Amino acid sequence: MKKGRLIVMTGPSGVGKGTLVRSLLKDHPELHLSVSVTTRSPRPGEINGQDYYFVDHLCFQNMIERGELLEWAEFTGNCYGTPLIAVKEKIEAGISVLLEIELEGARQIRSTFPSALSIFIMPPSIDELERRLRGRGQDSEDAIRRRLMRARAEMDAASEFDFEVINDDLDFALRRLESVLYSPV
Ligand code: ADP
Ligand code: 5GP
Repeated sequence: MKKGRLIVMTGPSGVGKGTLVRSLLKDHPELHLSVSVTTRSPRPGEINGQDYYFVDHLCFQNMIERGELLEWAEFTGNCYGTPLIAVKEKIEAGISVLLEIELEGARQIRSTFPSALSIFIMPPSIDELERRLRGRGQDSEDAIRRRLMRARAEMDAASEFDFEVINDDLDFALRRLESVLYSPV
């Protein structure tokens, strides 16, 4: 059986990665979204095992030491990582796996798996990114400030990735994403 593809999608927090991925998965149930592990506290409505596996720092540290994470990074005070085993099983079963992760983790994937398809999601502007972070209404003022500071550095890294998709109009960005994923290579 042909192996599945590893697809990594990155871009600043608030750009709309989660929104794009949710829409994409509705139309493409053949894709598998990797569920990450994080030490961040759940936001209202987030479900353990569905949005993330929410763990404490000791558990996260143990996972690193046991080699259970494909990649991991610290992001604005919390740790985030991709569980290795689920990704491996899906890829080997011929299912393509989507990772929706921040820049450092995406860089790790690019160096470990050069064959991974990598996509950077870009906001139309930093002002619009700030509006989206505030509009989401789920992060503290301090968290928003730290995410915006990090966003500027992240946006400078866009050219490292195979494709850049600007998430201005959502439908337009979705179509572009589909063309990147499904056009013949
Ligand atoms: P991320 O997963 O990158 O942190 P989200 O998917 O949570 O970002 O989106 C952040 C906010 O921006 C949400 O409130 C979402 O509804 C909104 N959003 C996403 N894409 C667009 C878009 N193209 N135009 C306007 N608002 C958007
Ligand atoms: P949030 O707290 O908004 O859910 O996520 C913060 C950032 O962490 C986002 O940019 C998100 O893409 C990233 N992230 C989520 N899961 C992972 C992961 O497993 N690894 C890495 N490196 N980043 C992740």
